[in-house]
Amino acid sequence: MKGFAMLKIGEVGWIEKDRPKCGPNDAICRPLALAPCTSDVHTVYEGAVGDRHNMILGHEALGIVDEVGSEVKSVKKGDRVIVPAITPDWGDEAEQRGYSSQTTGPLGGWKFSNFKDGVFGEFFHVNHAEYNLAKLPPDISLEAAVMIPDMMSTGFMGAENANIPIGGTVAVFGIGPVGLCGIAGAKLRGAGRIFAVGTRPKPVEIAKKYGATDIISYKNGNAAEQILELTDGAGVDSCITSGGGPDIIMDAMKAAKAGSYISNNNYFGKGMTDKDWIPLNRADWGVGMASKQLITGLCPGGKVRMERLASIIQTGRMDPALMATHVFKGLDKIEDALAMMKTKGPDVIKPVVMCE
Ligand code: NDP
Ligand code: ZN
Repeated sequence: MKGFAMLKIGEVGWIEKDRPKCGPNDAICRPLALAPCTSDVHTVYEGAVGDRHNMILGHEALGIVDEVGSEVKSVKKGDRVIVPAITPDWGDEAEQRGYSSQTTGPLGGWKFSNFKDGVFGEFFHVNHAEYNLAKLPPDISLEAAVMIPDMMSTGFMGAENANIPIGGTVAVFGIGPVGLCGIAGAKLRGAGRIFAVGTRPKPVEIAKKYGATDIISYKNGNAAEQILELTDGAGVDSCITSGGGPDIIMDAMKAAKAGSYISNNNYFGKGMTDKDWIPLNRADWGVGMASKQLITGLCPGGKVRMERLASIIQTGRMDPALMATHVFKGLDKIEDALAMMKTKGPDVIKPVVMCE
């Protein structure tokens, strides 16, 4: 089979590989719809998780089941499924502690295009298929559903981790697809005023549709200072960071009230700072005593999470298809879609590829 791969840091290309083998708890799927992620860009072009050779990229997919192992009963060959970007090892110790994305070790639930071949191939392997694959409801579009595996799951995690009080003020730093889902999630969690930090016109337009009340351009001066000014110095109850470099945590700390949560979604790539540190300003952090909580997380995976996110679309609470700004046809086009994700023109939020 063929797949679109990271050949080494900074280089991508098409390669031939054997079709993956199906164990008793696994499934083998063909791609139905795919999307490249900013994380693929960090992985390839910044070597953020280290060097990888001839590893098929991609972790955002809807699939068609091609084969299931003997223990898999909930899906069968031919089913159309939502494939979570993160496929935890259910039953693992970290999962039992409530951290399913961290099974087998930190970030261990992230297997596609990290420890094993990803989804940008003619076939891909899914572990723990019984607990990871969700059936794709027939009443939602592929453009909407392909946002479930990572964009909705991660963006909503940002809002869930941010401990948003009903009517509370929220700042979302970065309004790519993850931050946009953070805005939609904040609104669903009952936020009042929502500041959206970003500049490109298309994301700004969708941010307003998803619930942003104020748009802040970080190009017009420090975003935190602008937010403080607009709140008469009070700051915000919750921050979600989903864009920018490591300094974004400092911005969020500065904008955050005492007692607030700073919920980070960012994947901080190697080389983003010369010292490989995430800086934190002592005073803005309340000299370590202002109860400003920094909380991080990896996209939640699993079948139940996918089903719940599909329900958000089915009930009309959010339309993630608005983020599918560019739609390609055919697996071959994943190459163009990833290139588009790397350069991100003014009108790009998320390119998606329909494979059937
Ligand atoms: P995008 O690159 O599409 O969006 C980044 C956003 O950040 C843009 O709105 C950009 O604004 C904004 N931005 C850039 N610089 C600044 C700045 N200095 N201050 C404030 N905002 C800034 O990213 P995605 O939405 O695709 O992904 C966001 C992050 O989430 C990435 O790091 C990604 O790897 C990570 N991620 C993490 C996951 C997890 O499990 N935790 C899962 C998936 C993704 P503009 O475009 O106007 O310049
Ligand atoms: Zn992703």
